[in-house]
Amino acid sequence: MLKRRFCILLSLLLVFSLLACDPVKDDVSGESGDISGEIQSELTVRFLNVGQGDCTLLTLPDGGFVLIDAGVYTNKKAVTNYLEKYGVETIEYMVLTHFDADHIGVAAEVIEAFEVKNVIMPDTVATTATYDNLLTSLENHEEIKVIKGEAGYTFLTGIVKFEILSPFETEGKSSNQCSVVMLMSYKNIKMLFMGDAEKPNETEMLNNYTPMKLRADIIKLGHHGSASSGSKDFLEAVAPKYGVISCGKDNSYKHPAEETINTLEELNITYFRTDLHGTVTVKTDGKNLNIHTEG
Ligand SMILES: [Zn+2]
Repeated sequence: MLKRRFCILLSLLLVFSLLACDPVKDDVSGESGDISGEIQSELTVRFLNVGQGDCTLLTLPDGGFVLIDAGVYTNKKAVTNYLEKYGVETIEYMVLTHFDADHIGVAAEVIEAFEVKNVIMPDTVATTATYDNLLTSLENHEEIKVIKGEAGYTFLTGIVKFEILSPFETEGKSSNQCSVVMLMSYKNIKMLFMGDAEKPNETEMLNNYTPMKLRADIIKLGHHGSASSGSKDFLEAVAPKYGVISCGKDNSYKHPAEETINTLEELNITYFRTDLHGTVTVKTDGKNLNIHTEG
């Protein structure tokens, strides 16, 4: 009898622990999903819903800000409104992964409206008005340090570490394939920001790094989840629990691709899409993760 009671108690404990460990249901419904514990000394990463483009704002534990990409030109106000809303005055590092207009669309405006200390961008050029605007803004703000975004460059902000894993070289590469890929480490938590890096970049990283080096808890998928990124081999090496796809509602490119979604599902990677879930907010103390979506 005692043994039977013990078994029932054990089963109940198992059910409760399974429920407590499943943040997916809560996240998708737009509520906060606590994996465990209280978040202290937190780092917040917001994958901002800027439409068909990328813009990720990191609020560091010491209160500093890092911005990865600066949204879309056609949705100018969205980026600056978000930055104001989240209390940005100074940006320690603005990382422009590459020069396509859905990533540097509002970069010039950000430089004019906020104090930007460092800009990291790939060693390449573009022939667009958006790129020219960015260069003019950088010329007008000589105080900004411009850093070449290439594999091997590492920087620290407080105790948050950023390592650039790609590109190795930019000559002869398409704009997407020049994307600055960045691995962020905060205590035990790692996040991989892919820009619009594509499958050839993923293969190159697989050939140059151990799977342990590529491992991350969260990946911002390359190229808005298109089929040109997110190979199974690469995602298996990174082995993230969560994936984030930044894309616009009903976008004409049909991002994300069914192929990418299938790979994510096959590998049991829970994914969030800014077109469906709105801004995706991740809070972490370096150990626990708390993911919140808008919808
Ligand atoms: Zn893009």
